[in-house]
Amino acid sequence: MSLPTVNDYSFLEKIGTGSYAIVYKAVKKTTPREVIAIKCVDKSTLSKSAIDNLVTEINLLKILKHEHIVEMKDFFWDEGNIYIAMEYCDGGDLSNFIKKKHKLPENVCRKFLQQLALALKYLRENSVCHMDLKPQNLLLMKRPKLTLKVGDFGFAQYLAPSEQKFTIRGSPLYMAPEILLRHKYDCRVDLWSVGVIMYECLFGKAPYSSNSFQELAEKIKDMRPIELPKSSYISPACKNLLLSLLKHNPSERITFEDFFAHEFLDLKHAPIQENFHHAVALVQKAVQSDAQKNTKEAIHLYSEALRYFIPLLINEVDLQRKEALRSRVNEYIKRAEQLKNVCLNYDRSEERGVMQKEDERAPSLQRMNTLDRSTSFSFTELFALSKSTTGMSGALEIGEAAEQYLAEGNYALALEKFQSSLGVLVPLLGKEPPGRRRDLLHKQVQLWMKAAESTKELLVTKDIDPQAANETHEQCVLQ
Ligand code: ADP
Ligand code: MG
Repeated sequence: MSLPTVNDYSFLEKIGTGSYAIVYKAVKKTTPREVIAIKCVDKSTLSKSAIDNLVTEINLLKILKHEHIVEMKDFFWDEGNIYIAMEYCDGGDLSNFIKKKHKLPENVCRKFLQQLALALKYLRENSVCHMDLKPQNLLLMKRPKLTLKVGDFGFAQYLAPSEQKFTIRGSPLYMAPEILLRHKYDCRVDLWSVGVIMYECLFGKAPYSSNSFQELAEKIKDMRPIELPKSSYISPACKNLLLSLLKHNPSERITFEDFFAHEFLDLKHAPIQENFHHAVALVQKAVQSDAQKNTKEAIHLYSEALRYFIPLLINEVDLQRKEALRSRVNEYIKRAEQLKNVCLNYDRSEERGVMQKEDERAPSLQRMNTLDRSTSFSFTELFALSKSTTGMSGALEIGEAAEQYLAEGNYALALEKFQSSLGVLVPLLGKEPPGRRRDLLHKQVQLWMKAAESTKELLVTKDIDPQAANETHEQCVLQ
């Protein structure tokens, strides 16, 4: 098939075919030459509604400017076609990405969902619903870092609360039940689609993957419960979000506000510019508290600031800025750890006086983070209850050692220990009957999973060789 010809652009190759367009990679004949993607729609095949969709898409893309929304550069037409020139996404689309990897680790899934959620938040602020969210319409940028961008606004709508549509739009597999069942629907359909996308990222297939439209429609009509493959473990927060999105009844589905605030996404600490200022303000307060010898407050503030700084550091692509940020982050980690030790020693001497005989496990209890006393006590209780189950107390001790290594700054060993402890505790948790011990174990597993994740992030910040950072960045983001 011959490539289209247009004055200012050289078409290079076909990169995608969608529901009504063909997308080409092209180069703008300017200096410097700019690589772009051009979406071409054959005018002769366009129905009245397809023209409407295209006009909506162009009008929306003109105003929507966001890091996680594909940018429109230009649009034009000739006798045969309408063209939309967009930024070229060199990583293809999410559908191909999942196919290549079969399924994605929870961390990667979180990263993508976080970016998708930031785009959806922006769309909501602009009163726009996408209406056709699916992996094929989520484009990926590999360079300078792996980034997701929402594309294909062909079915997008301005939100008009009073006016609800009855036409079927989008792809059945990702389509909310209320659309398929021809009930009234609104923007909440996007949340269902996010749930299906999340499921496909985690398990490699859609929750209602079917061989035919009939089969799919049956499953939706029967409100078949969503089954999570037993072979893949996902964290409780991840499972909670997934199942809250995949609620058949839109009024039971998680709301946009709760979605944006969900702990699995942790959008609050997402690496966005605004959070950099927030982190700096927190550190300034930490330094003040530190100077005033308000140690616990200072530790709290340093730790809070680090929760913002670390994602920003991981996300930074400019080597110079990354280096500066890394040394800043290391300084804050070091200071927070020094202060923790001061606190620990103080608490130890206090405890020695008050509770010397109270608990023979006191030394290990003291090793726990004394700032979170309730956690230390529940650990002690769990440890006492663990004796009756083979392997449990050993695994708890390994987890405890991991915490110790973490406090000492030996991140590699800490991560190894967290992982080996969780490797035993997670399956045990799966078999544990309801009761006090299950609650305690659940809490401990969650705590250490979070700790393992932050340890991984700390490792990344510590170990990236600045020279190699560019090449390794994709892996860093993906881990
Ligand atoms: P349609 O509206 O016909 O579904 P899309 O806009 O979804 O068309 O594009 C079809 C496919 O082309 C996408 O699924 C994706 O694989 C590819 N594609 C679209 N836009 C880009 C882009 N900017 N960069 C790279 N690939 C793209
Ligand atoms: Mg498409």
